[in-house]
Amino acid sequence: MASFLKNTFRFIFLLVLFLVLPIFFLQKKAIAFGWFFLFYLVNFVFVVISVNKTAKKKAAIKYDIQKVEEELNVLVSENSKEEKHNLSLQQKISRYNSLKEIIEELNQKLDLDFVSGKLVSIAFSMISLNKGAVLLYLVDSETQKLSLFKTKKEDKDLVIKAKEGDMFDIWVLRHTSPLLVEDVKRDFRFDLDKLKRGEARPIVSLISAPLVSGHRLVGILRLDAAIANLFTQDDLRFLALVCEIGAVAIENSQLFQKTRDLAIHDGLTGLYTKGYFLERLKQECRRQLRKAGQLSLLMLDIDYFKVYNDKFGHTSGDIVLKNLARLLNDYFSGEDVVLGRFGGEEFCIVLNGKDKEEALGIADGLCRKIAGEIITLRRQKTNITVSIGVSCFPLDTADENELVHKADAAMYEAKKKGRNRVCCF
Ligand code: GH3
Ligand code: MG
Ligand code: MG
Repeated sequence: MASFLKNTFRFIFLLVLFLVLPIFFLQKKAIAFGWFFLFYLVNFVFVVISVNKTAKKKAAIKYDIQKVEEELNVLVSENSKEEKHNLSLQQKISRYNSLKEIIEELNQKLDLDFVSGKLVSIAFSMISLNKGAVLLYLVDSETQKLSLFKTKKEDKDLVIKAKEGDMFDIWVLRHTSPLLVEDVKRDFRFDLDKLKRGEARPIVSLISAPLVSGHRLVGILRLDAAIANLFTQDDLRFLALVCEIGAVAIENSQLFQKTRDLAIHDGLTGLYTKGYFLERLKQECRRQLRKAGQLSLLMLDIDYFKVYNDKFGHTSGDIVLKNLARLLNDYFSGEDVVLGRFGGEEFCIVLNGKDKEEALGIADGLCRKIAGEIITLRRQKTNITVSIGVSCFPLDTADENELVHKADAAMYEAKKKGRNRVCCF
């Protein structure tokens, strides 16, 4: 408003000075025309000079404005870069702060299923931000091949065909180092056609890192997605760190599982040990009690096994025990049973849901099956026979220790009666 008033005032002043006053003086004949002309000429020169100066000033100001604008653009772009950097730093800080929680989470339990589940969940939510898929492969200690163990996917119906890994996993396996593929189409290391042939689901970007505990490659943890550039170098670094922690947790749980397997499985026959079998018998009895069901217990002992050992040697005796365990597994395959080695050449079987009559029939069939099985030892065709005692829960007793005792007593009764037979009370 102030500048408008100023300009209006200036315009009226110039109008009066250059037009009204000269005309007034000219009319009054107070001034000669020559002076009047000179006055205009001088003023014209002044005007030209001042217009020129103003134009130059304007150009300078325009140049300055452009310069300031350029500087402003640079500052804005630097600022946005800085913001991005800050964001990634914040993400890094929050990720690294959560490492302690990750360690705690992975070490909550020693169960392999639990640990692997936690590991893929952490990778899925913290690194791929719930996009694409996370695949955990474990290395088979015997074949040294990869085997898909656990997955977590954005699309739950997505089918993963590469159960033993694809070319990316083989690459990580061979190099034992992390891998980042920003866009499969632009990565010269990998043959795209090979990928298309192997996997139906679209894979465009991925990160993968080996799970190494000590010097042992335990597996591979891999994240992939159907879009390009989903993962960054920062993601890969964090994945490698998670894998370092995860590998130790996985190896611990594998060792725990092995130890537990060894504790509950008999080394020679692979059947349950006496201790674990009795625990299972207790559980099964409780289960049957809950549903008002029943079960039968078979106690089986090889006849004259000492003689057999003396004749063919202890190693041959071991082979016979192994074969008998295999025969029991085959005979009861698909049935609701629990098989155990009670010790020495004595075996025990829980037949869930079977009453005494059914159990006696099954035991009789088993007795005949074993006796009819030809074993060739030292080029001699031989066979073994067994004596079986049967007891029923809860018909004979509702106490599981008593149940074992009764089956054992029935088995000795079968021995007394001439062996190669089934007895019960
Ligand atoms: P019975 O018909 O009365 O059962 O006679 P038996 O000879 O089978 O009975 P006994 O209990 O006298 O002998 C059991 C034998 O089983 C003694 C031992 O040599 C043998 N034995 C126990 N455990 C093993 C094993 O792990 N391997 C081998 N090869 N033999 C075993
Ligand atoms: Mg015996
Ligand atoms: Mg015996």
